Amino acid sequence: MSNLEAQYRIEKEPYYREVNGEVGLFEAAYAARLPMMVKGPTGCGKSRFIEYMAWRLKRPLVSVACNEDMTASDLVGRFLLDKDGTKWQDGPLTTAARIGAICYLDEVVEARQDTTVVIHPLTDHRRSLPLDKKGELIHAHADFQLVISYNPGYQSAMKDLKQSTKQRFGALDFSYPDRETEIEIVAHESGVSADIAGKLVSIAERSRNLKGHGLDEGLSTRMLIYAGSLMKKGVDALSACSMALVRPMTDDPDMRDALDAAVGTFF
Ligand code: ADP
Repeated sequence: MSNLEAQYRIEKEPYYREVNGEVGLFEAAYAARLPMMVKGPTGCGKSRFIEYMAWRLKRPLVSVACNEDMTASDLVGRFLLDKDGTKWQDGPLTTAARIGAICYLDEVVEARQDTTVVIHPLTDHRRSLPLDKKGELIHAHADFQLVISYNPGYQSAMKDLKQSTKQRFGALDFSYPDRETEIEIVAHESGVSADIAGKLVSIAERSRNLKGHGLDEGLSTRMLIYAGSLMKKGVDALSACSMALVRPMTDDPDMRDALDAAVGTFF
């Protein structure tokens, strides 16, 4: 194993609780080297799932958090100046293609469309990546797979993936886990009892009903874990929920009242 590969290798099994047959489906997609899109709201387990799959498939994982300032060079690589002149530095996508990693582009829709198109030749039969500035064409390692995440809730007509990008991927839909599974996850990850985790999940269920009625998204599994972790550190339930669940979500006084009321119902 090369040093680079070892650096991206996931040594320890990540905790992942399967929700809906996604493990087997992803394995089949990987066997076919199908580029994959994982869709769903923030904090519902998409990144954890990909970490788990990389561990399970024994592949290194190169993750990139995408943003709107990202350029194609940030993914592919660039020449850097050092004391001996210029030196080529691979970007994360190039590294992943060379070492046969799973490359996870998180929230790829945040990136500009001229950045997104650089992934196209990697997602079809060519499985190649042209490094235009360097004048090199890389053929992806046989084990390489591209995975992108996508939150359909945030999309507007202005900011969406092009059809020519979307149609290069298989897709798995993610949502918040069912109640029992979510309780198990929150209890496991934060260390609170199933009883407390159940109350946190009940608050989240209320908030998810407010989606579209003043909230853009409901409370995520991630936020429930934060609230549980604060309680585990000795913070009282109301303060923990205020800090981890209500305050980050909204500045609207009415919405805060509605969320505070949900918290008050259960704690
Ligand atoms: P996303 O990538 O969808 O924004 P994450 O994968 O970061 O969300 O999930 C947030 C947290 O929720 C994770 O760190 C993990 O603790 C927990 N989580 C969510 N779903 C699961 C699951 N099915 N199994 C285990 N942990 C989960």
